[in-house]
Amino acid sequence: MMNLPLNVDFTGKVVVVTGAGGVLCGEMAKAFAQAGAKVAALDLNEDAVKKLADECKAEGYVCEGYKANVLEPEALEAVHAQVLQDLGPCDILINGAGGNNPRATTDNEYQHEAKEGQKTFFDLEPNGVDFVFKLNFQGTLLPTQVFAKDMVDKQHGCILNISSMNAYIPLTKIPAYSGAKAAISNFTQWLATHFAGSGIRCNAIAPGFLVSNQNRKLLFNEDGTPTPRTAKILAGTPMNRFVESDELLGGVFFLCDDKAASAITGVVLPIDAGFAAYSGV
Ligand code: NAD
Repeated sequence: MMNLPLNVDFTGKVVVVTGAGGVLCGEMAKAFAQAGAKVAALDLNEDAVKKLADECKAEGYVCEGYKANVLEPEALEAVHAQVLQDLGPCDILINGAGGNNPRATTDNEYQHEAKEGQKTFFDLEPNGVDFVFKLNFQGTLLPTQVFAKDMVDKQHGCILNISSMNAYIPLTKIPAYSGAKAAISNFTQWLATHFAGSGIRCNAIAPGFLVSNQNRKLLFNEDGTPTPRTAKILAGTPMNRFVESDELLGGVFFLCDDKAASAITGVVLPIDAGFAAYSGV
């Protein structure tokens, strides 16, 4: 059993979480299940969400795992129909699937430091850039098209997107991921406005620096020692530490709670140990 950050009751709410086979959204899915929700855990990685659902069920919570590609509208419609049958209409949608790709990442922070054989800005692959924009932006838009229909029908619901620190100011090496997450923050405001009259709130969290599958190689060398990038991150973080994944849950619960956040829509909440607040001087 997890130690939940807020005493929030999501009993009976159907919470759809994409990317629930991953580190952060798997934890969010579990937390919602423990807080009483009926959770639909969606991911490309079917084994991961089935395992998550089994773990939740073993604790007495309600969670079903579904294989779903957030980039395939027809597959999403099929999963939606299954979720309706198994759990009911969606009350809360967490658009968690996302990430970067090495094909859209440069080896160097600065062009003038590029060495022979390294991948520079000029070597970025268009299909890698497309992949990252598609996964993060379309991968948020398409599930919202499918699951927010339930919310419009009920004139009630909540959408939570996952932005990032790089949405405020781009991080070196990852131009596509930074641009795509900036688009997510922008889209969060668009959705908040578009659905305001339909009883649907839409917000985002912007997690700071966590150690996870997608960035482990940028943060630690193969022998486990920190990279120079890690030293820079910590020097730019007033609290001088990484954020732990369970520290996202308080913000997630707060923004998804109809009572606590009843008038909050269109915000992007940084959960970053102060990174976005610090100029570096
Ligand atoms: P993760 O790689 O552990 O999880 C991502 C999950 O998304 C994986 O299980 C993967 O199978 C799934 N996925 C990928 N493509 C998919 C697709 N087309 N359809 C369905 N599922 C797909 O990553 P994470 O660190 O848990 O990140 C979760 C979210 O948080 C992402 O949107 C990420 O961009 C964002 N984020 C992460 C960090 C961080 O430091 N980890 C920081 C800021 C934002």
